[in-house]
Amino acid sequence: MIKKIHLRLTLVFTGITTLILIIMSLSYLYMTEGELRKTAFLSFQSDMNTVLTTLEHQSVISYEALSKLESGRDYIIALYDNDSLLSYTLITKSDEQISLLSDARRYSEEQHLIKADSVSLFSVLHTEFSFHTETRSYYACHAFLPQNRGSIEAVILFSTDVLLTQINRQRYQFLFINILAAIVIFIFSYFFINYLLHPIQESADRQTRFVAAASHELRTPLAVILSSLSAFKKAEAQEQDEFLQTIQDESTQMSRLVEDMLLLTNADNHTWSVHPEPTELDTLLLNCYESFLPLAEESGKKLTIQLPQESIPTCNCDPQRIKQIISVLIQNALSYTGNNGVIELTLSHQNHSFLITVSDNGIGIDDDDKERIFERFYRADRSRKQKGHFGLGLCIAKEIVQAHNGKIWVSDSPSGGSSFHISI
Ligand code: ADP
Repeated sequence: MIKKIHLRLTLVFTGITTLILIIMSLSYLYMTEGELRKTAFLSFQSDMNTVLTTLEHQSVISYEALSKLESGRDYIIALYDNDSLLSYTLITKSDEQISLLSDARRYSEEQHLIKADSVSLFSVLHTEFSFHTETRSYYACHAFLPQNRGSIEAVILFSTDVLLTQINRQRYQFLFINILAAIVIFIFSYFFINYLLHPIQESADRQTRFVAAASHELRTPLAVILSSLSAFKKAEAQEQDEFLQTIQDESTQMSRLVEDMLLLTNADNHTWSVHPEPTELDTLLLNCYESFLPLAEESGKKLTIQLPQESIPTCNCDPQRIKQIISVLIQNALSYTGNNGVIELTLSHQNHSFLITVSDNGIGIDDDDKERIFERFYRADRSRKQKGHFGLGLCIAKEIVQAHNGKIWVSDSPSGGSSFHISI
């Protein structure tokens, strides 16, 4: 799903950016090509002024002068006297060139680019225009030069091939740049979008793991309930109570698990909050101690408490939630210590922060597991599957502590077990 979105976003991003780039390139090409054509035509016009002035000042236009002019800038020059081509043109031009020159001359006449009545015996009259055949384009000049009390007509053609090659080269360069830019944009957006989607991917993975683990945890009590129900139906009246008890126990476990999951879901959605109030943490800790003392004694374990000697300020926290965390920690300590288990509850106050520690001399936690035990449904030792232990307690504790802007961490206790610390 995320992979599909990743690819789609990459393509959309690349597509839009490349499209913008193409529009910008086309606009740039349109402007520069227009400018190039304009400059080339102006340069042709200025060249024609020079060429015609050179011809005008020659009393007799020599072959030499004409061929020099032609070879200088690849012009094709034709001279007409009274509608007939002068011999220079006939000798030096191919039939194809002669017909091309005649076409250009005819075009100028048809379009009335030079008015016949303005032809003068004293000054050069000329016009420049673009002339296209089916396959090629030219800049053309049609001129009347005063010569020996009459006038000679000149048609000069200049192929725009060089200009078109330049324009085409520029187009290919831009095409190449655009393709290269599209590839670079694609690669960049692929990694950038991947980076942006990473938290979403992680959250989706977390959600999937959460649902999978939740279903797994619910499956066991459900299976027990169903099998107890079928056994209940077949059982004698005196045995039925036992099955009812099992069903009730498993249902209680399930309801606790569902409550825990709901709390975590609310924490994810930020629809869960703590209700802080000034709280005497020493009194709260003492209450917890007293409520767990009978359970500890019953299981042959020692529960101790150490509170600050001097009076400490009140702590602005949610007493119910803090009690909930301490209960999780004491329950865990009772569960993960052996017969001679000693569990110590400690409270200290330093630099405006409170530190609650629950230490035990139990089985301890491997360094590799110290971070992971705060993850949802994580249990360091999956083979020790005790009832009521779903791997959610520490994760809920972490959520509550974070909601108080506090910190929770675990370390090895000096007695070999683990110490859980909460600083608020
Ligand atoms: P659980 O309900 O399984 O105890 P928790 O989130 O409370 O879930 O704890 C996660 C895991 O951390 C436990 O499964 C256990 O492996 C480990 N753990 C927690 N507290 C202790 C402790 N006091 N000593 C040793 N291991 C502990």
